Amino acid sequence: MGARMRVSLALAAAVTAVAAATLPLSAYRVTATRDNLQLRWPTSRTIPLEMKLGTGQIDVLLDGTTTWNAVGASAAQGWNNVADVNFVVNQSTSTERGRGNDVNDVFFSSSYYGEPFGDALGITLYSFDAETGIILETDVVFDSSRAWDSYRGAQRTSSRTGGRLYDLRRVAAHEFGHVLGLDHPDLAGQAVNAIMNSRISDTDGVQQDDINGLKAIYGGFTPTASRMVAGSTMRAGQWLTSANGRYRLYMQNDSNLVVYDMVDGQALWWTGASAANGQAIFQSDGNFVVYDGGNNPIWFTSTAGNPGAFMVLQDDGNLVLYTAAGVPIWNRTM
Ligand SMILES: [Zn+2]
Repeated sequence: MGARMRVSLALAAAVTAVAAATLPLSAYRVTATRDNLQLRWPTSRTIPLEMKLGTGQIDVLLDGTTTWNAVGASAAQGWNNVADVNFVVNQSTSTERGRGNDVNDVFFSSSYYGEPFGDALGITLYSFDAETGIILETDVVFDSSRAWDSYRGAQRTSSRTGGRLYDLRRVAAHEFGHVLGLDHPDLAGQAVNAIMNSRISDTDGVQQDDINGLKAIYGGFTPTASRMVAGSTMRAGQWLTSANGRYRLYMQNDSNLVVYDMVDGQALWWTGASAANGQAIFQSDGNFVVYDGGNNPIWFTSTAGNPGAFMVLQDDGNLVLYTAAGVPIWNRTM
């Protein structure tokens, strides 16, 4: 191992809108250096993000969020539980920041360490080991001169400036993708729907192509899955996680199966069954049954007669049981 030479690189998210992608190719792009080193964090670890966007109460944003730090935390969450790397967000009230301080600072500024933003809404700055490409530090800076809010869907216009109203969450999601080592698929000539495209669009969050890119760098997240097949068992303390990482179906110690929204920790649905030493058995006949410790059924989906069935905790938080042919026959909202 030679000396650790710190190298810096800046990646921007540009302002101009681009026409929607038409070819749904899987075509993520990873960030490589001039020496063709893949920039990446070590796996099986968490990346601490120091949110310094502001913790004070602001006017309620369009999506109901009340602090910029909460918007940043929500953006980071979108990348979690899909690959063998996860963010942990530290809510910080500090205004200290610096390149080379080994802290992953996230903040607003009128420049990024004295450099003008130009067309960029946000900039991610890396420091990495020049021999291995291992990332040592990233700083994410957002242009404080823009009109910011937080909302989903099509881009909006600011009533204050008459210009574009920028959704901080989607821009932060883009920059945090850079933090993880992803680059712009569109600038590599690829037409895909991805938050990592260089230009802001109506795409407001992490897409499948982005996830594919993350998995290509770090490998999949193995401890949990978003689906369960007939012929398998869920015991207390086990869970499913939606592919986007937001929702969790958790088998509690009291045998109650609960769907949680991991962003705010709210329980969205539960069977209400309560028993000691229970287990949820997705029977090979397609019926999903919770048994108590004495092997008595205490809750079930009544979907027997469907061998090969599977159940998915979807990205919208719904829990859906499908036949082998993919026909939905039960969901938690029924
Ligand atoms: Zn970018």
